[in-house]
Amino acid sequence: MNDPASHAPVSVATQSQVQTFQCPKCREYINASASRCRFCGAEVDSSSAAAQAEIQEKVAQAVNQARLARVGVWFMPAFWLNLILFYGIGIETGIFVFLPVMILVSTVGVIVGWWTRFGKLQTDDPDYAKARHGMKTTVVLFVLMIVVPLPLFLMGWGTVLIKWFMN
Ligand SMILES: [Zn+2]
Repeated sequence: MNDPASHAPVSVATQSQVQTFQCPKCREYINASASRCRFCGAEVDSSSAAAQAEIQEKVAQAVNQARLARVGVWFMPAFWLNLILFYGIGIETGIFVFLPVMILVSTVGVIVGWWTRFGKLQTDDPDYAKARHGMKTTVVLFVLMIVVPLPLFLMGWGTVLIKWFMN
């Protein structure tokens, strides 16, 4: 290797970006560019190591995004509360609706993005299996939190509108 970068001292920033993957033999996490496992000494096929490392990186992303989606779902009661405050009490500013709507839209984005990017990941990583299972629960919770209060909200909103037109 004549790559000058490989001789440069390893900074904390580059170290954190080093791709790791699990040794096929001993399952310890090792550097994907290593030719030998530093734990058990098994030889490492660099192309399959790189592919493995890529999958592992995606699994980490999938776990993070799944967490983010779940947080968004727990904001949905706040979304409804804000809309009720806005239409019920009649707060004169759009920010009360704008923020919850942004959270709603971004949560939909995270959920749809998750299934598009990670839905068909080929890995037997238990973290991925857990994240995927968690995402299914997230989708169910999300649908319940949006679909169930919707008729109630529309009824409430309708009443407010009718009152408003009567005046
Ligand atoms: Zn090993």
